[in-house]
Amino acid sequence: MNSILSKMLFKSIRLEPKACWEYLLWMDKSNQGGIYLSEIPNNFYKNGELCISTVDDEEDTDLVSLAKQKKVEMNWNICKFLPTAGSCQNFFQIAIAGHIHAVYVHIIEETARLPSGVDTPVKRRGISTQLERMAETVCTPSMVQFSQERIQNVLTEQLFGITQKIHRSVSTSVNKDGDPVFPLLAGSYLPLKSPALEFVKAVCQVLRLDVNIQSQVDKLKRDLLKLIGVGSFADEANFQDPCMSLVVPEVICEYCNSCRDLDLCRDACITPARGNQPASIRCSNPECGVNYSLEVIEQHLISMLMRRSMTYTLQDLKCTKCKMIKDKNMSKYCDCAGTYSNNIPRDQFMQKLKIYENISKHYHLENLSEMIEFINKYN
Ligand SMILES: [Zn+2]
Ligand SMILES: [Zn+2]
Ligand SMILES: [Zn+2]
Repeated sequence: MNSILSKMLFKSIRLEPKACWEYLLWMDKSNQGGIYLSEIPNNFYKNGELCISTVDDEEDTDLVSLAKQKKVEMNWNICKFLPTAGSCQNFFQIAIAGHIHAVYVHIIEETARLPSGVDTPVKRRGISTQLERMAETVCTPSMVQFSQERIQNVLTEQLFGITQKIHRSVSTSVNKDGDPVFPLLAGSYLPLKSPALEFVKAVCQVLRLDVNIQSQVDKLKRDLLKLIGVGSFADEANFQDPCMSLVVPEVICEYCNSCRDLDLCRDACITPARGNQPASIRCSNPECGVNYSLEVIEQHLISMLMRRSMTYTLQDLKCTKCKMIKDKNMSKYCDCAGTYSNNIPRDQFMQKLKIYENISKHYHLENLSEMIEFINKYN
């Protein structure tokens, strides 16, 4: 909080915490789950540190039973890429929410046991990216032990059962009628084959966000992979985000005038395409919820793609040896005798083009797909 406020740019803004996460597993903007704390106690914001004080002794028992009723907020984009067949998505929700809830209840029980007056800092754990590990992990040894044991016992048993069930009921990527079991979404790009495999990868990836239980989860993953006959060192056993991303900046709702950056692949307000019905995307304002005009978005996309294609075509050439930008017009080789190559590799451009193509198909954007066809022809 204070680090935000200390920036010059925000000097004139007053920030007030309205709600926060009591317990959170965070992967990225479109993948997170946890327990939401909607009412913030008065003494919550202390010297720029977020604190939750334990409540008076009399309320202790209430606190625990209250914790048991708390809803787990689940917002996992990667879950949408699992098949609905064989209840893969439901099982994902059950396993993850169950784990978050159990750990949360344990934390509350723990704090209730501690003498009152002790401030426990908010437990905020997880990693935003593999590189950027949050070192500020605050947790008690008992909590670590609890979640480790939960992985080894309860969850191992639960996931073994579920994985076996999925593996038996949906073993291939097409069902009896020849339709693909994996949902085809705007962000799909990976050739997904085995529902059970994808399920195991997704669940373990999420559990792995808790740095304290990573080795337990890795062991669990190895065992689960063995169960479905996949080597744990195989390429296909590595988790890859199944969703691409394409952000259209500053989309304005025609009804409520709210403005936001829209990810056409990952947004939570997307209604995916079904049959001949194109996908649509809603305004995220809870009081509005009107569908955005796809024509306006298409215009945005076309000008974005135009700019991208222009940059690609007019890019500088770079020497492969000395990495200098080519400055002479006609020479075939650099002064150092190295050859020239594109500054922006062709693959990178084509990959981006593929995202646009997916989106144009998904939202039925005819003008955009015509343009893509044209670019494809000349590149
Ligand atoms: Zn704006
Ligand atoms: Zn709106
Ligand atoms: Zn050179």
